[in-house]
Amino acid sequence: MGVRNVEQERRTVPFECQRCWHVWQEDYVVQHTADRHGNDIEVWLRDGVRVPPPSAEATCVKCGSAKVTTFPDGYLTRHPEAAMPGEPSPLDDERLRSPVPRRMPWIT
Ligand SMILES: [Zn+2]
Repeated sequence: MGVRNVEQERRTVPFECQRCWHVWQEDYVVQHTADRHGNDIEVWLRDGVRVPPPSAEATCVKCGSAKVTTFPDGYLTRHPEAAMPGEPSPLDDERLRSPVPRRMPWIT
């Protein structure tokens, strides 16, 4: 009785929501195995639970939209800024402060 030869690799998949532009990553374990007909298949596991391949059925963790794309392998390594959380822009701050309401001189 043979031990099934299953190759296993960890894969971190970056996602981007096309609705709210949220970017996040999820860790998967991908098992390379063969079905009973001998075809190579990939089995995707997350936290030990079999899940559909991320490109097929991803939903945004933030807004729940199904319009989600995945990046090519290594995208975030080449574009780390895409994974940065948005920082408040100083321009927004400026807009909050101006225009300054002008005080009427006769009102004290
Ligand atoms: Zn979203």
